Amino acid sequence: MARIREAREKQVYPFYREFEAGGIRASIDGRPLINFSSNDYLGLTNHPRVKEAARKAVDTYACGLSSSRIQATTVEHALLEKRLAKWFGFESCLVSTTGYQAMVGAIVALADKDTTLILDSFSHACILDGSFLAAGVPGRGCEIRFFNHNSARSLERILKTRERKNALVIVEGIYSLDGDRAHLKEFIEICDRYDAPLIVDDAHGTGTLGTRGTGILEEMGLEGKVPIVVSTFSKTFGGIGGVLLASGEVVEHVKHTARAFLFSAALPVPIVAAASTILDMLEEDGPALVTELHQKADYMRSKLLGAGFDLGASNTHIMPVMCRDERKTLFMHIALFECGVMMVPITYPGVKLGEERLRVNITRGHTQEDMDTALELLKTYGEAFFVLSGEDLGPME
Ligand code: PMP
Repeated sequence: MARIREAREKQVYPFYREFEAGGIRASIDGRPLINFSSNDYLGLTNHPRVKEAARKAVDTYACGLSSSRIQATTVEHALLEKRLAKWFGFESCLVSTTGYQAMVGAIVALADKDTTLILDSFSHACILDGSFLAAGVPGRGCEIRFFNHNSARSLERILKTRERKNALVIVEGIYSLDGDRAHLKEFIEICDRYDAPLIVDDAHGTGTLGTRGTGILEEMGLEGKVPIVVSTFSKTFGGIGGVLLASGEVVEHVKHTARAFLFSAALPVPIVAAASTILDMLEEDGPALVTELHQKADYMRSKLLGAGFDLGASNTHIMPVMCRDERKTLFMHIALFECGVMMVPITYPGVKLGEERLRVNITRGHTQEDMDTALELLKTYGEAFFVLSGEDLGPME
């Protein structure tokens, strides 16, 4: 809390800004901002078709169902689950209220005292929190082990030396802060060899990878090879909501035992309607939408690299601009913000010291002009604050 107080006093506190309009074209204090930290990857959140579907659903179902899914499942939920299962190529699907909830619920439902949960060291908070909860269940807590980020060798070492009979491995399709893809082919091969089910959190791959946009499994030709995928509606699907894709048996088990799901309210139908409409658009036009995103991301990547920026391990539309210094990151953020460009600073403890960066996500909603504006500003301030040269910023009081 002392750090937060100090940041506020120095007027470099960058969080909880109050938007009057959200999304890629945002506004704060009446000033327009091009948002490069949005997860609206295909730029569909503000599409008139999506908003109209949600408006209609408000008339029929109101804004909420005032109950959990066990007693408030609508035909809209059931239909969307059937359609998502088919689109993603799984037997069954369960839609919940957030991706965080979907992951926490699934882990606690699936890991017991005979399980070693094996996690990538860069795992998202929902994977960590679900695992910590599962480890702490009285009388049936699982073991937790971590492997080095994206290292198949490290994973195998832990599978070999685990203490519990069963293993459950969890990775992400694209890592949200670094923008690198999981080495999924190797992970699947090892998990198969050790008879360990694999969960892939493809929150950031959904709608962005694969010809149709169904995610990393489609892109890598690995459909049917991973038993469980978890995703979200909070990125490409433009709203909020969790998605669990698995066999009918696993979905039945989770929907009757996952406490995070059972004891929390159902996803409101206007949100279900918005997600269904985005699914319509992906079914109609997915390949063109995804290609457009990739063309824009490729353009920005080549320009950023050409200008000398360090993008870390990124090989996707998520391309962190590495500043590797807290003050440089905050100064860059503030300078860009003042010029109408939003790039959220990611600092310790979100990342390790020395790994500080600006969050830069390219979306299909960004125009060439948006990207060129951002590039010019990044170059100007990247030089001014020694991000490009890597020199020390020195004392500045
Ligand atoms: N997994 C990953 C990798 C994420 O980045 C996020 C959201 N940032 C989630 C899960 C949680 O999704 P939701 O926002 O739907 O709770």
